Amino acid sequence: MSEHCHQDHTHRWVLCPHCDMTTKLPGLAPGTRATCMRCESTLATAWHEPLRRPMVYAFSALVMLILANLFPFISISVMGMTNQISLLQIPQAMVDDKYRFLATIFLLFVQIIPATCLVSILILTLNRRLPQSLTIPLAKGLFYMKNWGMAEIFMAGVLVSFVKLMAYGKIGLEMGFWPWCLFCLGQLRAFQCLERHVIWQRISPAPPLRVEPIAGISGLTQNLRSCPCCTAIVSADEPYCPRCHQRGHARKPQSLQWTLSLLVTSIILYIPANIMPIMVTDALGSASGSNIMAGVIFLWNEGSWPIAMIIFVASILVPSMKILAIGWLSWNAGGYGARDNHRMQIIYEIVEVVGRWSMVDVFVIAVLSALVRMGGLMNVYPADGALLFCLVVILTMFSAQAFDPRLLWDRESIKKHEEESIE
Ligand SMILES: [Zn+2]
Ligand SMILES: [Zn+2]
Repeated sequence: MSEHCHQDHTHRWVLCPHCDMTTKLPGLAPGTRATCMRCESTLATAWHEPLRRPMVYAFSALVMLILANLFPFISISVMGMTNQISLLQIPQAMVDDKYRFLATIFLLFVQIIPATCLVSILILTLNRRLPQSLTIPLAKGLFYMKNWGMAEIFMAGVLVSFVKLMAYGKIGLEMGFWPWCLFCLGQLRAFQCLERHVIWQRISPAPPLRVEPIAGISGLTQNLRSCPCCTAIVSADEPYCPRCHQRGHARKPQSLQWTLSLLVTSIILYIPANIMPIMVTDALGSASGSNIMAGVIFLWNEGSWPIAMIIFVASILVPSMKILAIGWLSWNAGGYGARDNHRMQIIYEIVEVVGRWSMVDVFVIAVLSALVRMGGLMNVYPADGALLFCLVVILTMFSAQAFDPRLLWDRESIKKHEEESIE
């Protein structure tokens, strides 16, 4: 193991990002992970080769991404007519249809953000020391953008569109398809074995603690906070982190107000997003729009029940459950409701992980509208419902991000504190 990660073998202090519990982590043996005593979320994972691993995965994923873009991606043949598209033709088709916003979102989430993150991983895990003026902004950007990479969700969208198109023609997987699959796997693995703590520790060691923290109580009760960017423990009243210079607070300021206002906006958009057509199918000159539910019913009637279920869950069940869950979490964090923090924590984690997958239908429309361009025979175009639906998913993601899960656990700390002071 290189000399950079020797800190992993001695103990270190962490504040749980989900519940703010203070824990003294022992040196973890490679291949093990530590979870929080209170909320059971993962605090740290010790990988074998914690720098080389993400580097190798990031490098291979980048090579595959370049290959995937060089060759044609998929094709369809209907009644002797063949249409072949490359990855970059998908946003191009949306620009031609005057959906510049969708095209930008597509390029950002599916190609630009994953590629930027992978390049950042490569630079940050390089064997040589680079100036902090370069590494700090790179690491900051990397950990903020990580959640917004959606290459694997696009992959799911491609597979769903295959099922939708099977009734019409023959699908061809072209030369660019296989590197894209490998790229998806590679970037997933690169993100998975990337440890925030290891990367930041290499850029600069964590600032020293002025007093020894007390394990087993929340950081807030001992006037400590963890930096939202680099996870260093700093004094709660210190506005800027000494390591990454990121501004931070003990709790996200106006967390509930932000969460709820983003949530209300997404609910307002959610209603028309479900009623308005998300795409228009023009077959032999007669155009008909279909909304999300119509798409599900179509698949169900075609006999593709598993895919119909996936789209139903991803596009209808997940967004509505997510809106309800965030609303309920905010209600609880505001001091109402039952105090079952463990259940709340599980809901929060599900919302964080599953929410992005609602984007699958938007990607299905992107693929269909680029691929199904058969002149007078059949054409598919995106419609305004897709735009609204895309906005709903983005807004609920921001809303979940604005929510501070530590507020749920704070009620417990306050309650305990009150009970102790009465005794
Ligand atoms: Zn915790
Ligand atoms: Zn920091």
